[in-house]
Formats: sequence, C-alpha cells, structure tokens
Amino acid sequence: MRYARVIVGMNNPQTDRVFDYHIPEVFRDEAKEGVRVIVPFGRKNTKTEGYILSLAYESEIPPDKLKDLLEILDDGKPIFTPQMLHLAQWMKENYFCTLSQCLQAIMPTGIKTKSIWQVALNENADISACKGGEMAVLEALKEMGNTVDLSELEKVLGSAGKNAVQQLQKKKILLLKQKMIRSEYKMEQRFYSINEGSSMWEEVLKKAEVDKRLLGQRKLLQLLKEKGEVSLEEIKKSGISESPLKTLLKKGVLSERKNQRKREVFSLEDYERTMPFYPTEEQRKALEEIEHQMNLEMKKPILLHGITGSGKTEIYMQSIAKILAMGKQAVVLVPEISLTPQMMERFISRFGDVVSITHSRLSPGERLDQWKKARDGEISVMIGPRSALFMPFTDLGMIIIDEVHDNSYISDITPKYDVREAAKMLAEDTGALLLMGSATPDLVSYHKARQGEYLLLELKERTGGGALPRMEIVDMCKELEEGNRSTFSGVLQEEIGRALEKGQQTMLFLNRRGFATFVSCRSCGHVMRCPECGISYTYHAKEEVLMCHYCGKTVESPRNCPACGSKYIRYFGTGTQKIEEEAKRLFPKANILRMDLDTTTGKNSHNQILEAFRNGQADILVGTQMIAKGHDFPNVTLVGIMAADTSLNTGSFYASENTFQLITQAGGRAGRTDDRGKVYIQTYQPKHYCITHAAEQNYKGFYEEEILLREMMGYPPFGAFCSVVISGEDGGETARAADVLGGILQAENRENNFFIMGPVPAMLFKFRGEYRQRILIQGPEENALVQFVVECVGKGEHNVGKGIHFQLTRNPLNIV
Ligand code: ADP
Ligand code: ZN
Ligand code: ZN
Repeated sequence: MRYARVIVGMNNPQTDRVFDYHIPEVFRDEAKEGVRVIVPFGRKNTKTEGYILSLAYESEIPPDKLKDLLEILDDGKPIFTPQMLHLAQWMKENYFCTLSQCLQAIMPTGIKTKSIWQVALNENADISACKGGEMAVLEALKEMGNTVDLSELEKVLGSAGKNAVQQLQKKKILLLKQKMIRSEYKMEQRFYSINEGSSMWEEVLKKAEVDKRLLGQRKLLQLLKEKGEVSLEEIKKSGISESPLKTLLKKGVLSERKNQRKREVFSLEDYERTMPFYPTEEQRKALEEIEHQMNLEMKKPILLHGITGSGKTEIYMQSIAKILAMGKQAVVLVPEISLTPQMMERFISRFGDVVSITHSRLSPGERLDQWKKARDGEISVMIGPRSALFMPFTDLGMIIIDEVHDNSYISDITPKYDVREAAKMLAEDTGALLLMGSATPDLVSYHKARQGEYLLLELKERTGGGALPRMEIVDMCKELEEGNRSTFSGVLQEEIGRALEKGQQTMLFLNRRGFATFVSCRSCGHVMRCPECGISYTYHAKEEVLMCHYCGKTVESPRNCPACGSKYIRYFGTGTQKIEEEAKRLFPKANILRMDLDTTTGKNSHNQILEAFRNGQADILVGTQMIAKGHDFPNVTLVGIMAADTSLNTGSFYASENTFQLITQAGGRAGRTDDRGKVYIQTYQPKHYCITHAAEQNYKGFYEEEILLREMMGYPPFGAFCSVVISGEDGGETARAADVLGGILQAENRENNFFIMGPVPAMLFKFRGEYRQRILIQGPEENALVQFVVECVGKGEHNVGKGIHFQLTRNPLNIV
C-alpha cells in the first residue's frame, strides 16, 4: 500500500486529527495498521507521534500535497491490533468522545513519545551585530553548554529572553531542533565481552599493566578474560567504574549486548500448583453448556448466576483450561477491589506463568511489560480490572467478567465506557465466548438472560454444602420507639458483646455512596420522594428545600413527617466515623479499625488495614462498601449492616439493585468457613421489598418486583436515559445555555417520543470551578434516544458561547 491514514496529536485528545501520508518505499513492508509512526505535522513540519489507522492504494489528497512518513517505531510491531482499532472506533460512536480518547484508553500506559525543543548556536553565523538582550542569550547559551532545552533557557532568561531568542532564531543565529524522547520504561540489561574479532585487547592490556592510570582498564579486561560475558551490574560490583568501559567500547576492544527483560509481577516459586476439582453435578452441567457454546460459530453470551461459594471461579478456571487447549487466549475481568492476593493465588496456582495480572498498584513499567507479554505470545490469560480487556491477544477465545453487576465496570473518566458492552462487542468481533458471572446480576443483564439474549446458567448450592449465613432485619423505628436513639440496635450490641467474649470478629458496614443526602422519618421510615419519578429527594441545606434531580421538582423540607406526623423527620443518615466513635464508647475494650475513603488515601493503606484485620489485630472493622467485596476473613462470625437505607435512597433508579447487591455481599463475609454466621440488617424500612428479599437471599423474588417497577416507570431495561451536563465557568451563561438546549430538545421532540426533564442545577452544582446544569432525557428505545440527543446537542453547540461544554452520558449511574 502506498498511503497511510494516520491519527496524530493524541496528547491533545479533545479533537481528532487524522491525515493521509505517503509511505516511502523503504517503509512499505513495515507500515501496518496500528503501528506507531513519526510524521511531519503542521506548517512547521513538527515531528509528531501518530498511529496508522488504515492503509490505502489511493488517497484523495493530491500527491504534491502529501507528506512522507518519517519513521516507523517499535520495530514495526503494532500497538493496536486490528480488533482494538475496531473497538476504539466503536467506543467513539457509543460513548460521545473522540477516537483519540478511546485509543488512549486502550493503549498501555507509559508508551508515549514526548518531544522537546532544543536551541543550538549556528556555528557559521555572524554574531558581531548582536547586542543587549541578544548577547545575554548567547552568553547564557555558552554557559549552559551549546545545546540547551528551550524551556530551560527561557526559564533562566525570563520573558525578555523569550523575545531575544525569537529574534536570534529569525536571524538564523540560533537553530531550533526537535528532540524526541521515548520514555518506554524498558528494563534493559547490558552485557560486555571482549571483541573476538580484534586482537587489540592484548595490546591494550599490556599497556595497562604498566601504566598505573589505566588500572581500571586492566581490571576490566582481566575480568572479561576470565569470565567471558559479564553484566554491567557485575562489573560495577567488582569496583570498576564506567569510564574504562566506555573508552574500550569506543576503541572497539569490547562489544556490548543489550537484553530486554520483561518485569515479573509475581514469582512462581511462591505458588504451589493445584489440580482442578472434580466438578459437582451443577458445575458439570454448566461446564457442558459452556463448552458447547465455545464450539459454536454464533456464540451466545452466558450469564452464570450462582450464589457466593457455589464454585463460579472454579468454572471459570476449567473453562479457561479448555480455551488454552485450543491454543487460544482468555481475559478475566474482575473489579479492581476484589483482585485480592487469594484471588490471584487461585489462578497462578492453577495456570502458572501462562497467566499474568495487571492492576493499578503496579508501576507503569510493570504494566507495560505484562501488555508486551500478551502481545508477544508469552502469556495466554490476563486477569485484571476494566483495562485488561485491551490486551493485544491474537486469538482471543474467551472473555470472563466476574461480579458482572459491579459499578466499577463503567469508567468514570472519559471515555465513559461500560466494559460489559465493550466486551460484548469485542467477543462478537473476535468470535470469543463471553462468560459473565455474579451472585446478584444487574437487572439489565438478568433481564437479557430471561429474554434469551444471554444463556442463563444457574448454580444454587454451595460446593462445600456450607450454609448461607442467617440474616435478620432489625426495625430501627421500633428501637427509637423503645427509647434507643443509638445507631446500634439492642440486639446488635448484645451480639457484638458475645462475639468479643468468644474472640470472634465483627464487621460493620455503612453503605454510603454518592453525594446525595436524603430525608427520612426515624419514627415510621417514610422517605421523601418525587411523586413523578419515584426517586428520593435530595436535601439542600442552604435553601432548606428538597429537590428531585431527575425532573427538578422542588418542595419545601417538611418539619413533620407527612405520613405519621412525627418530628423525627429529617434524618440524614450517619457516617462511618460516627459509628466508629459510638462503637468505641459501647465497647471500650475492643480494638476497632475503620476503613473508608478517609483512611485509605495512601497507596497501600487499603491492603494494610485488611491484612491487620485478617491477622486478628482488631476485633471490629467499620467500613463502607469497600470491605464488602471478595475478601475472606475466616474469623468473622458477625456482620452488621448499620443503615441499609443510606444506599436505598441515593436518588438514582439503581439504588434498589445496588442495595440488594451490597447486602448480599456483606452477608457473604460472615461465616465463610465454619458454622453459620449472623448478619443483622438495620433499617427504617423493614418492609421494603429490597430489604426483605435480600434478607432471604432471594434474588429472583427481588428481580420480579424490581422489574415491574422498572417497566412501570420506563426505566432500563424498558427504556433508557441520556443525561446532558451543561457546564461553564460563568453561572449565568451556563444556565442560559442549558435553557437554549432545553428549548431545542422540546422543539425537536415533535412526536413526543421523549420525556425531557430539566434543565435543573446538577447535584454537584459547582464542580472544579465550573457551574453545572443537567437535562435528563428519557425514551423507550436507546438508539433512537441517543440519536435524538446527539442531534440536538449538535445544534445546541452552535447556539451557545465558547466556554460552554456539553457532556453526554447514557444511563448514568449517579445523577450528580
Ligand atoms: P464462587 O466463585 O462462586 O464464590 P468458588 O469457585 O470460589 O465459588 O468456590 C468456593 C469454594 O469451593 C472454593 O474454596 C473452591 O476451591 C471450592 N470448590 C469449587 N468447586 C469445587 C468442587 N467441585 N469440589 C470441591 N470444592 C470446590
Ligand atoms: Zn413518619
Ligand atoms: Zn422527579
């Protein structure tokens, strides 16, 4: 092919810059899709990094206007496989962002090329006419060595110097050169040996033996003569400096060999190999179905619904073994937080160094090397959070998504992709099988399985036969009636006391999420909700009002409960710190640990707290949903869910399903190993269907009720939302822009297919120096809705000021 379409300027990803380049003869073999290149860009032909998106025989640009590709990087090994380029394109179309943003999300961290400008003196220039500021520049340049980074020079000289530099550049006294810096986090080892081809070394050695100044050279040659090839580290260890090495290398006496190693993220010796379990009857059936799908041309995604401990992970591993036997590769996605040492151990023990792991606690270099192992075919299984989907495997056979309901599968930074959707797309594109597992599937996934879009497989028993913990609902309204104003119910206090006596551990959860403050009645549990949307109101302290952040309805905050007249309305929930303090007061002898966003800011603090608790250094662990996932604490027999209401009333339609998930997960922490543990669910709404079904661990019961509500309200999966956040530095202008867009949406909605709510001030009204307004649009069908909103926003962009941004999100998790 003669032409390449190249995307450049990705470090400024708000706009896509895609151009055609001519491929010079020498590069024709190496120029492939996805390869990283250097091209001239702009009027100054600045050397710029880019990626080949596609190749062509023809270009629409006249030949004399086409520039040449300058360089092919990475030895012509593509950074993006064709499937990843395709996926990026798909993400761009589905998540309202640029291709550059998607490619950046896909490419491994730490692979980018930076460039800097350097200034050098033109040796042939006549500087006699220079004076004042210009002379100062030249002198500084001389002082700093003759080639200097432009930014350095400008720093030294200040703004006056900047002008002088420009003048000198115009007069061609200073030359500007661009230098490309590739910070690739390569781990390189260097080895040295005597150059066999030349006999010079004998001569040099003879000289060095008599000349004392050449002691270093002598030692070095003797070392190499004795040992053959020696690494740089070893040379340094022998007390030889680098200068004799460099000298002899220059003279051609020595030769150098570079060896690039990839970093290991675990050491195999630490793990004992395990054999697969003989599958239980349920597992065997599931595995049969999975294997059947593997061999089909048109594969159906599979949803594996199985209670905690029912052997899902074992099924993943046995399925992977089949994929490996076919010579294919597999990706296992897990929520970052559940990628615990125990989880890693299970996969490494089963598969050895065929697996690798990626997660955010690794260094960029470590992560890059795992990516390279996948590219170079050195591993076949990658485990990790969201970004593990983007591994450059050549023959992907299976994508597994564990805990498929988890909210962390939706990226909270641009591109705001849902990795479940992206995985589905990638599976279709590559012919891989998609296997999703959960004890509490999200409503949309489960609905799809019920409708036959996914294949539903179920595991109903724990493999070990171990029983699920006993769950009990505690009515906190009754506690108040009986005069207990504490956040700890009587029964929970007793049980904690008992556990302390027996030396057993307790976990206390507070399901706090989002930013919303809801208002409820402590006497009867009544929650103030928007009558239109069914969503709990958010309390705004300054104005003393309640607002629905879906439709914008605002009402005055009541003084008495509209349901029972009690004055104990306006209860806003509680915080982890308050619970910790109260626990300390109630149980002065207990050791108490707290884990929430405040106590886990350090890089490893998260694991340290959990490790301390596992080792028995504390009796009670108080925490947010962070502690609910994945971890195994054998000595925990008691779990208290302090206020189930805090997650039931987050002001989002996901609140119920998230609460169900959290209670189930939290419950799963109790009594994992021996006899049945106990779980107490404290709530002001003990009759809420989400609470009652969660207490019975009855997912289907919950699903049946929740899905009816969703259908009635037209919420997903029976309809879709699209949110547009309008933001800008000027509050008034932002509000006007929101009105303009609102007007366009209303005017375009001729057939009234869509329900337009807002504009309303966003829940996070001011964020990072910008004012935010929100419009929420609801429609019965997602694609039509998205198309409508995109068109209207396109029109809106032409009618508002430059400083206004529109941000679109499909089915936002939180309306903030
Ligand atoms: P899940 O992923 O559904 O929570 P796991 O795969 O972790 O379930 O299984 C729970 C426990 O049962 C693990 O300790 C696992 O090693 C064990 N296990 C799984 N399958 C079997 C089996 N067929 N026979 C015996 N033990 C099993
Ligand atoms: Zn009340
Ligand atoms: Zn409303």
